[in-house]
Amino acid sequence: MNTPSHLILNLAILGRRATPAWNWPIAIGSVLPDVALFFFYGWAKAMGLPEREIWSTVYYQPGWQDIFAVGNSIPLALLGLGIALWRRWPRWAVLFGSMLLHHLQDLPVHHDDAHRHFVPLSNVRFQSPISYWDPARFGAYVALVEWGLVVVASVVLWRRSRSRWGRFCLVSVNVFYGVMYGLMYLHGGGFA
Ligand SMILES: [Zn+2]
Repeated sequence: MNTPSHLILNLAILGRRATPAWNWPIAIGSVLPDVALFFFYGWAKAMGLPEREIWSTVYYQPGWQDIFAVGNSIPLALLGLGIALWRRWPRWAVLFGSMLLHHLQDLPVHHDDAHRHFVPLSNVRFQSPISYWDPARFGAYVALVEWGLVVVASVVLWRRSRSRWGRFCLVSVNVFYGVMYGLMYLHGGGFA
């Protein structure tokens, strides 16, 4: 899934009006698994690598794959969650719970780019028959479902919070998704 989707869905699912102090740990946990990806992309751009090469070869190099695997590990997130619950650290529990939810959202919608979600127990990659972006793997439909879920979650968050900045972000993400969807699938012929 796209990173902003994780953020909006996790805030809607795990957040509560009565516990605003949880919002930051939820937000951090929801984006943390993708942080390495942003560093990777920034580094690759700084090295002057062409876009094609970044995503077709460099992304798949073992060193980078190991770093991505740690950030996307379900067992490690469970371990963190277990320790936080045992030590009664609620905010850490929320953070690790949000990471876990991120992994569960990614698991069914990655194909070629499937993460090693079970590191360090296993290196297996679950290659889903559907992809959140690849037109050859129903990406045009999955992206529409993802956006639909984000719209529902956005309405939930809109009603929960009066923050102007938060509402501005919600509208911006949804408009951005609409524009990207139009460019990628409607204009780009992703349904073909
Ligand atoms: Zn992810």
